[in-house]
Amino acid sequence: SLKRKLSNELPQENGVAGSSDTGVKVIVRMRPPSKNEEEGEVILQKTSGDSLSILGQTFTFDSVADAASTQADIFQLVGAPLVENCIAGFNSSVFAYGQTGSGKTYTIWGPSNALLEDESSSDQQGLTPRVFERLFLRITEEQNKHADKQLMYQCRCSFLEIYNEQITDLLDPAQRNLQIREDTKTGVYVENLTEESVCSLKDVTKLLKKGLSNRRTGATSINMESSRSHSVFTCVVESRCKSKDGLSSLKTSRINLVDLAGSERQKSTGAAGERLKEAGNINRSLSQLGNLINILAEVSQTGKQRHIPYRDSKLTFLLQESLGGNAKLAMVCAISPSESCKSETFSTLRFAKRAKAIKNKAVVNEQ
Ligand code: ADP
Repeated sequence: SLKRKLSNELPQENGVAGSSDTGVKVIVRMRPPSKNEEEGEVILQKTSGDSLSILGQTFTFDSVADAASTQADIFQLVGAPLVENCIAGFNSSVFAYGQTGSGKTYTIWGPSNALLEDESSSDQQGLTPRVFERLFLRITEEQNKHADKQLMYQCRCSFLEIYNEQITDLLDPAQRNLQIREDTKTGVYVENLTEESVCSLKDVTKLLKKGLSNRRTGATSINMESSRSHSVFTCVVESRCKSKDGLSSLKTSRINLVDLAGSERQKSTGAAGERLKEAGNINRSLSQLGNLINILAEVSQTGKQRHIPYRDSKLTFLLQESLGGNAKLAMVCAISPSESCKSETFSTLRFAKRAKAIKNKAVVNEQ
Protein backbone atom coordinates (compact mmCIF):
# COMPACT_ATOMS: atom_id res chain seq x y z
CA SER A 1 0.00 0.00 0.00
CA LEU A 2 1.15 3.48 -0.79
CA LYS A 3 2.05 5.31 2.37
CA ARG A 4 2.18 9.03 1.99
CA LYS A 5 3.45 11.34 4.64
CA LEU A 6 2.89 15.04 4.47
CA SER A 7 6.18 16.86 4.45
CA ASN A 8 5.11 19.14 7.24
CA GLU A 9 4.67 16.15 9.55
CA LEU A 10 8.29 15.16 9.14
CA PRO A 11 10.96 16.30 11.55
CA GLN A 12 13.41 18.88 10.31
CA GLU A 13 16.95 17.68 9.71
CA ASN A 14 19.40 20.55 9.27
CA GLY A 15 16.56 22.55 7.79
CA VAL A 16 16.74 20.53 4.59
CA ALA A 17 15.65 16.90 4.58
CA GLY A 18 12.03 16.46 5.56
CA SER A 19 11.69 20.20 5.65
CA SER A 20 8.18 21.51 6.14
CA ASP A 21 8.90 24.34 3.72
CA THR A 22 6.96 23.65 0.55
CA GLY A 23 7.40 27.10 -0.99
CA VAL A 24 9.24 27.47 -4.27
CA LYS A 25 12.83 28.52 -3.75
CA VAL A 26 13.72 31.33 -6.13
CA ILE A 27 17.30 32.30 -6.85
CA VAL A 28 18.29 35.08 -9.23
CA ARG A 29 21.68 34.77 -10.88
CA MET A 30 23.25 37.63 -12.77
CA ARG A 31 26.00 36.62 -15.17
CA PRO A 32 29.16 38.71 -15.48
CA PRO A 33 29.32 41.19 -18.39
CA SER A 34 30.72 39.65 -21.56
CA LYS A 35 33.78 41.06 -23.36
CA ASN A 36 31.72 43.13 -25.78
CA GLU A 37 29.45 44.57 -23.11
CA GLU A 38 31.09 47.80 -22.04
CA GLU A 39 31.80 48.04 -18.37
CA GLY A 40 29.83 51.24 -18.08
CA GLU A 41 26.80 49.45 -19.43
CA VAL A 42 26.27 47.28 -16.39
CA ILE A 43 23.02 48.40 -14.86
CA LEU A 44 22.11 46.04 -12.13
CA GLN A 45 23.19 46.47 -8.58
CA LYS A 46 22.36 44.19 -5.74
CA THR A 47 20.77 46.50 -3.19
CA SER A 48 21.21 44.18 -0.23
CA GLY A 49 21.84 40.48 0.27
CA ASP A 50 18.68 39.14 -1.33
CA SER A 51 17.25 42.16 -3.16
CA LEU A 52 17.68 43.76 -6.54
CA SER A 53 16.45 47.09 -7.86
CA ILE A 54 15.52 47.78 -11.44
CA LEU A 55 13.29 50.38 -13.12
CA GLY A 56 12.39 51.81 -9.74
CA GLN A 57 11.20 48.52 -8.32
CA THR A 58 12.91 46.40 -5.67
CA PHE A 59 12.55 42.62 -5.77
CA THR A 60 13.43 40.25 -2.95
CA PHE A 61 14.19 36.56 -3.45
CA ASP A 62 15.60 33.66 -1.46
CA SER A 63 18.95 34.59 -2.81
CA VAL A 64 20.53 36.92 -5.34
CA ALA A 65 23.75 35.57 -6.82
CA ASP A 66 25.70 38.42 -8.40
CA ALA A 67 28.26 38.34 -11.17
CA ALA A 68 30.93 37.14 -8.76
CA SER A 69 28.98 34.00 -7.81
CA THR A 70 30.64 30.72 -8.71
CA GLN A 71 29.23 27.41 -9.91
CA ALA A 72 30.07 26.05 -6.45
CA ASP A 73 27.95 28.82 -4.84
CA ILE A 74 24.95 27.89 -6.97
CA PHE A 75 25.44 24.25 -6.04
CA GLN A 76 25.37 25.20 -2.34
CA LEU A 77 22.19 27.23 -2.81
CA VAL A 78 20.25 24.84 -5.01
CA GLY A 79 22.09 21.56 -5.63
CA ALA A 80 22.99 20.45 -2.11
CA PRO A 81 19.41 20.90 -0.77
CA LEU A 82 18.08 19.08 -3.83
CA VAL A 83 20.27 16.04 -3.10
CA GLU A 84 19.18 16.01 0.56
CA ASN A 85 15.54 16.22 -0.50
CA CYS A 86 16.07 13.34 -2.90
CA ILE A 87 17.73 11.16 -0.24
CA ALA A 88 14.79 11.96 2.08
CA GLY A 89 12.41 10.67 -0.61
CA PHE A 90 11.04 13.89 -2.10
CA ASN A 91 10.71 14.64 -5.78
CA SER A 92 12.83 17.69 -6.56
CA SER A 93 13.16 19.93 -9.59
CA VAL A 94 15.29 22.85 -10.68
CA PHE A 95 14.17 25.06 -13.55
CA ALA A 96 16.42 27.61 -15.23
CA TYR A 97 14.40 30.52 -16.61
CA GLY A 98 15.56 33.64 -18.44
CA GLN A 99 16.23 35.25 -21.78
CA THR A 100 18.67 33.73 -24.26
CA GLY A 101 22.27 34.51 -23.32
CA SER A 102 21.53 35.09 -19.62
CA GLY A 103 23.36 31.98 -18.39
CA LYS A 104 20.72 29.21 -18.07
CA THR A 105 22.77 26.59 -19.88
CA TYR A 106 25.95 27.63 -18.10
CA THR A 107 24.16 27.25 -14.77
CA ILE A 108 22.30 23.97 -15.34
CA TRP A 109 24.81 21.93 -17.39
CA GLY A 110 27.95 24.08 -17.40
CA PRO A 111 30.14 24.57 -20.46
CA SER A 112 30.60 21.27 -22.33
CA ASN A 113 34.37 21.38 -21.89
CA ALA A 114 33.79 21.26 -18.12
CA LEU A 115 32.08 17.86 -18.43
CA LEU A 116 35.11 15.77 -17.66
CA GLU A 117 34.91 12.01 -17.58
CA ASP A 118 38.00 11.55 -15.46
CA GLU A 119 38.26 12.15 -11.74
CA SER A 120 39.41 15.76 -11.96
CA SER A 121 36.68 18.36 -11.66
CA SER A 122 36.53 21.80 -13.17
CA ASP A 123 35.54 25.09 -11.50
CA GLN A 124 33.20 25.67 -14.41
CA GLN A 125 31.32 22.41 -13.86
CA GLY A 126 27.59 23.05 -13.91
CA LEU A 127 24.86 22.21 -11.44
CA THR A 128 23.91 18.81 -12.90
CA PRO A 129 27.31 17.08 -12.67
CA ARG A 130 27.75 18.56 -9.18
CA VAL A 131 24.36 17.19 -8.10
CA PHE A 132 25.26 13.69 -9.23
CA GLU A 133 28.73 13.82 -7.73
CA ARG A 134 27.09 14.61 -4.39
CA LEU A 135 24.22 12.17 -4.87
CA PHE A 136 26.52 9.17 -5.33
CA LEU A 137 28.59 10.23 -2.30
CA ARG A 138 25.44 10.51 -0.20
CA ILE A 139 24.16 7.14 -1.41
CA THR A 140 27.39 5.49 -0.22
CA GLU A 141 27.13 7.32 3.11
CA GLU A 142 23.52 6.22 3.59
CA GLN A 143 24.40 2.62 2.76
CA ASN A 144 27.20 2.64 5.34
CA LYS A 145 25.04 4.34 7.94
CA HIS A 146 22.20 1.84 7.55
CA ALA A 147 24.25 -1.28 6.81
CA ASP A 148 21.80 -3.39 8.89
CA LYS A 149 18.95 -2.49 6.53
CA GLN A 150 20.74 -3.65 3.35
CA LEU A 151 19.90 -0.40 1.63
CA MET A 152 19.97 -0.75 -2.16
CA TYR A 153 19.78 2.16 -4.56
CA GLN A 154 18.98 2.21 -8.23
CA CYS A 155 19.21 5.35 -10.40
CA ARG A 156 17.82 5.60 -13.92
CA CYS A 157 18.23 8.66 -16.12
CA SER A 158 16.55 10.03 -19.20
CA PHE A 159 17.13 13.19 -21.20
CA LEU A 160 14.62 14.80 -23.54
CA GLU A 161 13.99 17.92 -25.52
CA ILE A 162 10.71 19.72 -26.18
CA TYR A 163 10.97 21.58 -29.44
CA ASN A 164 8.03 22.90 -31.40
CA GLU A 165 5.72 21.03 -28.96
CA GLN A 166 7.38 17.74 -29.94
CA ILE A 167 9.34 15.54 -27.59
CA THR A 168 12.66 14.09 -28.81
CA ASP A 169 14.74 11.54 -26.91
CA LEU A 170 18.16 13.16 -26.53
CA LEU A 171 19.72 9.78 -25.76
CA ASP A 172 18.28 8.36 -29.00
CA PRO A 173 17.38 11.25 -31.31
CA ALA A 174 15.82 8.93 -33.89
CA GLN A 175 12.97 8.76 -31.39
CA ARG A 176 10.99 11.90 -32.03
CA ASN A 177 7.45 12.96 -31.42
CA LEU A 178 7.18 10.83 -28.28
CA GLN A 179 3.91 10.96 -26.38
CA ILE A 180 3.20 11.77 -22.75
CA ARG A 181 1.08 9.18 -20.93
CA GLU A 182 -0.41 9.10 -17.49
CA ASP A 183 -1.54 6.21 -15.35
CA THR A 184 -2.48 5.98 -11.71
CA LYS A 185 0.49 3.78 -10.80
CA THR A 186 3.44 5.51 -12.47
CA GLY A 187 1.97 8.97 -12.88
CA VAL A 188 3.05 11.01 -15.90
CA TYR A 189 5.72 9.50 -18.15
CA VAL A 190 7.01 9.67 -21.72
CA GLU A 191 6.29 6.55 -23.73
CA ASN A 192 9.34 4.80 -25.26
CA LEU A 193 11.83 7.23 -23.73
CA THR A 194 15.31 5.72 -23.18
CA GLU A 195 16.20 5.14 -19.54
CA GLU A 196 19.79 4.35 -18.63
CA SER A 197 20.98 3.00 -15.28
CA VAL A 198 23.73 5.07 -13.72
CA CYS A 199 26.06 4.20 -10.84
CA SER A 200 28.65 6.97 -10.95
CA LEU A 201 29.27 10.56 -11.97
CA LYS A 202 31.14 9.17 -14.97
CA ASP A 203 27.98 7.37 -16.17
CA VAL A 204 25.98 10.60 -15.84
CA THR A 205 28.64 12.69 -17.59
CA LYS A 206 28.52 10.34 -20.58
CA LEU A 207 24.76 10.72 -20.85
CA LEU A 208 24.95 14.49 -20.48
CA LYS A 209 27.57 14.82 -23.20
CA LYS A 210 25.61 12.62 -25.53
CA GLY A 211 22.31 14.36 -24.89
CA LEU A 212 23.66 17.89 -25.09
CA SER A 213 25.31 17.19 -28.43
CA ASN A 214 21.94 16.00 -29.76
CA ARG A 215 20.12 19.20 -28.80
CA ARG A 216 18.65 21.29 -31.50
CA THR A 217 19.73 24.89 -31.66
CA GLY A 218 18.64 27.55 -34.06
CA ALA A 219 20.51 30.72 -34.90
CA THR A 220 18.70 34.01 -34.47
CA SER A 221 20.11 37.51 -34.57
CA ILE A 222 20.15 37.90 -30.79
CA ASN A 223 22.60 35.03 -30.28
CA MET A 224 24.29 32.61 -32.66
CA GLU A 225 23.46 29.57 -30.54
CA SER A 226 20.05 30.53 -29.31
CA SER A 227 18.25 27.74 -27.56
CA ARG A 228 14.74 27.44 -28.93
CA SER A 229 13.99 24.30 -26.96
CA HIS A 230 13.42 23.06 -23.43
CA SER A 231 15.77 20.30 -22.20
CA VAL A 232 14.79 18.06 -19.30
CA PHE A 233 17.20 15.67 -17.55
CA THR A 234 15.40 13.28 -15.21
CA CYS A 235 16.71 10.75 -12.73
CA VAL A 236 14.52 8.28 -10.85
CA VAL A 237 16.16 7.23 -7.60
CA GLU A 238 14.78 4.10 -5.96
CA SER A 239 15.91 2.82 -2.60
CA ARG A 240 14.94 -0.51 -1.10
CA CYS A 241 15.59 -1.51 2.45
CA LYS A 242 14.77 -4.33 4.85
CA SER A 243 13.24 -3.54 8.21
CA LYS A 244 13.74 -5.61 11.39
CA ASP A 245 10.67 -7.72 10.65
CA GLY A 246 12.19 -8.69 7.30
CA LEU A 247 9.74 -6.70 5.18
CA SER A 248 11.21 -4.59 2.42
CA SER A 249 10.10 -1.11 1.52
CA LEU A 250 10.63 0.96 -1.57
CA LYS A 251 11.17 4.70 -1.65
CA THR A 252 11.12 6.53 -4.98
CA SER A 253 12.12 10.07 -5.74
CA ARG A 254 12.58 11.89 -8.97
CA ILE A 255 15.03 14.64 -9.88
CA ASN A 256 14.28 16.97 -12.81
CA LEU A 257 16.86 19.45 -14.10
CA VAL A 258 15.30 21.73 -16.65
CA ASP A 259 16.88 24.23 -19.02
CA LEU A 260 13.99 26.26 -20.42
CA ALA A 261 13.92 27.94 -23.82
CA GLY A 262 14.76 31.64 -23.91
CA SER A 263 11.99 33.73 -22.35
CA GLU A 264 12.54 36.81 -24.57
CA ARG A 265 9.66 38.23 -26.49
CA GLN A 266 9.92 37.18 -30.09
CA LYS A 267 9.99 40.61 -31.68
CA SER A 268 13.43 41.37 -30.28
CA THR A 269 15.08 38.42 -32.05
CA GLY A 270 14.15 39.41 -35.60
CA ALA A 271 13.05 35.84 -36.35
CA ALA A 272 10.82 35.24 -39.33
CA GLY A 273 9.03 32.43 -41.17
CA GLU A 274 9.86 28.94 -39.89
CA ARG A 275 11.65 30.34 -36.87
CA LEU A 276 8.67 32.47 -35.94
CA LYS A 277 6.45 29.41 -36.17
CA GLU A 278 8.79 27.56 -33.85
CA ALA A 279 8.78 30.51 -31.52
CA GLY A 280 4.99 30.49 -31.45
CA ASN A 281 5.01 26.91 -30.22
CA ILE A 282 7.85 27.50 -27.81
CA ASN A 283 5.91 30.38 -26.43
CA ARG A 284 2.98 28.04 -26.01
CA SER A 285 4.94 25.89 -23.52
CA LEU A 286 6.54 28.92 -21.90
CA SER A 287 3.39 31.03 -21.82
CA GLN A 288 1.52 28.04 -20.38
CA LEU A 289 4.21 27.86 -17.72
CA GLY A 290 3.63 31.55 -17.02
CA ASN A 291 -0.14 31.02 -16.93
CA LEU A 292 0.08 28.12 -14.52
CA ILE A 293 2.40 30.05 -12.28
CA ASN A 294 -0.14 32.88 -12.14
CA ILE A 295 -2.98 30.47 -11.36
CA LEU A 296 -0.97 28.53 -8.77
CA ALA A 297 0.21 31.71 -7.08
CA GLU A 298 -3.42 32.84 -6.84
CA VAL A 299 -4.54 29.45 -5.47
CA SER A 300 -1.75 29.56 -2.86
CA GLN A 301 -2.67 33.08 -1.82
CA THR A 302 -6.46 32.79 -1.76
CA GLY A 303 -6.85 29.11 -0.94
CA LYS A 304 -9.56 28.87 -3.62
CA GLN A 305 -9.63 25.73 -5.75
CA ARG A 306 -9.33 26.17 -9.51
CA HIS A 307 -8.89 23.95 -12.52
CA ILE A 308 -5.20 23.91 -13.45
CA PRO A 309 -4.78 23.38 -17.22
CA TYR A 310 -1.60 21.27 -17.04
CA ARG A 311 -2.34 19.52 -20.32
CA ASP A 312 -2.37 22.64 -22.45
CA SER A 313 1.33 22.30 -23.24
CA LYS A 314 3.91 19.49 -23.31
CA LEU A 315 6.12 21.20 -20.77
CA THR A 316 3.43 21.74 -18.15
CA PHE A 317 1.89 18.29 -18.71
CA LEU A 318 5.28 16.60 -18.29
CA LEU A 319 6.36 18.65 -15.29
CA GLN A 320 2.99 19.04 -13.57
CA GLU A 321 4.26 17.34 -10.43
CA SER A 322 6.85 20.10 -10.02
CA LEU A 323 4.22 22.83 -10.40
CA GLY A 324 2.04 23.01 -7.34
CA GLY A 325 2.24 19.25 -6.86
CA ASN A 326 4.27 16.56 -5.18
CA ALA A 327 7.76 18.01 -5.54
CA LYS A 328 10.14 20.56 -4.14
CA LEU A 329 10.90 23.19 -6.73
CA ALA A 330 13.76 25.63 -7.10
CA MET A 331 13.81 28.19 -9.85
CA VAL A 332 17.05 29.78 -11.00
CA CYS A 333 16.19 32.97 -12.86
CA ALA A 334 19.14 34.00 -14.98
CA ILE A 335 19.61 37.67 -15.88
CA SER A 336 22.05 39.71 -17.91
CA PRO A 337 23.77 42.76 -16.35
CA SER A 338 23.42 44.72 -19.57
CA GLU A 339 21.44 47.95 -20.05
CA SER A 340 20.10 46.72 -23.39
CA CYS A 341 18.45 43.74 -21.64
CA LYS A 342 16.72 45.87 -19.00
CA SER A 343 13.14 45.26 -20.04
CA GLU A 344 13.66 41.49 -20.44
CA THR A 345 15.38 41.42 -17.06
CA PHE A 346 12.43 43.24 -15.55
CA SER A 347 9.99 40.69 -16.95
CA THR A 348 12.18 37.80 -15.72
CA LEU A 349 12.15 39.27 -12.21
CA ARG A 350 8.37 39.67 -12.34
CA PHE A 351 8.06 36.04 -13.38
CA ALA A 352 10.41 35.09 -10.52
CA LYS A 353 8.31 37.04 -8.05
CA ARG A 354 5.13 35.23 -9.08
CA ALA A 355 6.88 31.85 -8.90
CA LYS A 356 7.87 32.66 -5.33
CA ALA A 357 4.19 32.74 -4.34
CA ILE A 358 3.53 29.10 -5.27
CA LYS A 359 3.19 26.39 -2.65
CA ASN A 360 3.93 22.76 -3.52
CA LYS A 361 2.68 19.74 -1.58
CA ALA A 362 5.70 17.49 -1.40
CA VAL A 363 5.30 14.07 0.23
CA VAL A 364 7.63 11.10 0.63
CA ASN A 365 6.68 8.26 -1.73
CA GLU A 366 7.08 5.03 0.16
CA GLN A 367 5.54 1.60 -0.30
P1 ADP B 1 21.48 30.81 -22.09
O1 ADP B 1 21.51 29.34 -21.86
O2 ADP B 1 20.62 31.53 -21.10
O3 ADP B 1 21.16 31.19 -23.51
P2 ADP B 1 24.34 30.65 -21.76
O4 ADP B 1 24.42 29.76 -20.56
O5 ADP B 1 24.63 30.01 -23.07
O6 ADP B 1 22.95 31.40 -21.82
O7 ADP B 1 25.31 31.88 -21.49
C1 ADP B 1 25.64 32.85 -22.47
C2 ADP B 1 27.16 33.10 -22.44
O8 ADP B 1 27.57 33.66 -21.20
C3 ADP B 1 27.96 31.81 -22.60
O9 ADP B 1 29.11 32.10 -23.36
C4 ADP B 1 28.34 31.45 -21.18
O10 ADP B 1 29.53 30.69 -21.11
C5 ADP B 1 28.51 32.82 -20.53
N1 ADP B 1 28.14 32.80 -19.11
C6 ADP B 1 26.90 32.70 -18.62
N2 ADP B 1 26.89 32.75 -17.28
C7 ADP B 1 28.18 32.88 -16.90
C8 ADP B 1 28.84 32.98 -15.64
N3 ADP B 1 28.14 32.97 -14.48
N4 ADP B 1 30.18 33.11 -15.63
C9 ADP B 1 30.88 33.13 -16.78
N5 ADP B 1 30.32 33.04 -18.00
C10 ADP B 1 28.98 32.91 -18.07
